[in-house]
Amino acid sequence: MESLPRLPDQYLEQAKEMIGGHRRRRSCKTCFDRGYLGVNQDNMLVPCSKCVDEEAVLAEWKEFVMATPELAELYGDYYEDEESAEEEQAGA
Ligand SMILES: [Zn+2]
Repeated sequence: MESLPRLPDQYLEQAKEMIGGHRRRRSCKTCFDRGYLGVNQDNMLVPCSKCVDEEAVLAEWKEFVMATPELAELYGDYYEDEESAEEEQAGA
């Protein structure tokens, strides 16, 4: 298991907004309308699979990472090499 660098806190807000922009429905009991279930061990938001288009969020997030020098330095290699990181965040 490869672990990612921890996401700097200041990017969490942007991640939340990004997820909010990709919600497919407004009312969701799984995530209480937040669009995410919580934060994982890498300080990354876990999108709600019930109401969020996860692929669209991931695609936008990758673009954001590559366009942000600090993030590109932290995660650039990871996103360039792994086109499809299948991470099942089951539970909840
Ligand atoms: Zn939800």
